[in-house]
Amino acid sequence: MAEAPPPNLRLRIDRQALAHNYRALDEMSGDAKAGAAVKANCYGLGVGTCVPVLRDAGAVMFFVAHWGEVAPLLPHMEAGNIRVLHGAGNAQEAGYAKAIGAVPVVNSLHQARLWSEAGGGLCDLMVDTGINRLGISPDEIGDPAIQALKVDCLMSHLACADEDSPMNARQLAAFKSCTGSVSHQRLSLANSAGIALGADYAFDVTRPGLSLYGGIARPELAQVIRQVAYPQAAIIQKRALSAGEGVGYNCTFTAPAAMNVGVVSIGYADGFLRSWNIGTDGAIGGAYLLHGDKHLPVLGKISMDMIVADLSQAPELAEGDWLSLPYMLQAAAQQSSVSQYELLTMLGQRFGRI
Ligand SMILES: *Cc1c(COP(=O)(O)O)cnc(C)c1O
Repeated sequence: MAEAPPPNLRLRIDRQALAHNYRALDEMSGDAKAGAAVKANCYGLGVGTCVPVLRDAGAVMFFVAHWGEVAPLLPHMEAGNIRVLHGAGNAQEAGYAKAIGAVPVVNSLHQARLWSEAGGGLCDLMVDTGINRLGISPDEIGDPAIQALKVDCLMSHLACADEDSPMNARQLAAFKSCTGSVSHQRLSLANSAGIALGADYAFDVTRPGLSLYGGIARPELAQVIRQVAYPQAAIIQKRALSAGEGVGYNCTFTAPAAMNVGVVSIGYADGFLRSWNIGTDGAIGGAYLLHGDKHLPVLGKISMDMIVADLSQAPELAEGDWLSLPYMLQAAAQQSSVSQYELLTMLGQRFGRI
């Protein structure tokens, strides 16, 4: 069968920036060693591209959410370095963990018993200190099912590390009061934002995700973290509009004068949501694409597969030329009303990855 031609939208990953971000977060973790959250296909950026870079930069522990996320990591590392955050919730999952050698994070008494019944062995243990997602409660630590575990990493997860909230100190204290109650080899509390909270939060292992991939989880990281993901889309048609002509669904933009526009091959199916082009006043407008440092306004509503950009400032642009999305995550989150996490993970499957 003939090979499909390359797509006219692409995602450039800056590997050097990714390695830099890992090393910077590892350094900020002080005596602790930074691991790497690589769930959701490295936050949408691609396991195949990102994991070797993170590993070569020094990451040893890798965190995923699902068992289905283990196999793509296996070519890159020993199975024992993979930690599965959702844990093994039934015999099939526990059996798979044993067979493949990836390490479950035990999140409940039920999971603890299942793991021991499956033969046990090294596991991690999540204690819930206030986020009320997964994890045993601190008063369950004394349970024989927990005491029977061979815990490598005892961990908890911060709910509000991206804010200056009293919750951070409360969770830190709650976590510290647990650490004497079950034997373990290592302790871990901080995600990306937690690393920026300082040495008290670092313990032995940190678990950055977002900031590896360019997210600014707290202001302290703004000068440290570099952009990693650069989505780009090509102009697939140039059009000349006359004054009074409308653009896109519902013709929400009307050309005030004759103008050149480009139809660009990206839409909401690729993660460029309509909310990008809705201002705080509810009016359509505000989104733009970049040509060098020139801002090219997006005209009218974003469609599923395309948008229309105003080329008035860059009349030299032609069909086939590439434009960039403004994907500095902190600014992009403000502009689009979409969180930095969502901006990364919703980049669609249609991008060529380079
Ligand atoms: C996703 C996740 C992380 C990484 O968090 P970021 O905010 O992306 O740095 C760390 N720990 C746990 C338990 C997670 O679920």
